[in-house]
Amino acid sequence: MAPMKAKRFCSYPRCSQMATSHGLCELHSQEKIKQAQKQRVNKWLPMYKNVRWQRMRLNQLAKEPLCCECLKENRLTPATVADHIKPHGGDPALFYDPRNLQSMCEHHHSIKSAKEDGSFGNPKKAADHDMHDMRKDG
Ligand SMILES: [Zn+2]
Ligand SMILES: [Zn+2]
Repeated sequence: MAPMKAKRFCSYPRCSQMATSHGLCELHSQEKIKQAQKQRVNKWLPMYKNVRWQRMRLNQLAKEPLCCECLKENRLTPATVADHIKPHGGDPALFYDPRNLQSMCEHHHSIKSAKEDGSFGNPKKAADHDMHDMRKDG
């Protein structure tokens, strides 16, 4: 009695791949996530252009010139991003709080923002570990 599930194609214009999630193929659902991230950044762009923020950012990078994440891995990498430890979500109190800042390199900053946007799209499979046959040696 179950209705026939028609094969779905990616809803992206001119894409003929099979849809895997959100009506999009693997590639285009990834693209959609990236776009959502960009939009999020654009939304706060005026705040980042603010002189007050520019000063805070420079202060932070002067105070902590090295990426805090790289330091944890015993690497010395010049930081280029003043990152908000707690996502500010447009809240000026968090945005302009110097204690809410840490220095990061591009690389680590992009990893962190990707994680924060992880709620969109495919949630990472929690049960990813597959059971291997335990072979007794000897
Ligand atoms: Zn597609
Ligand atoms: Zn780093």
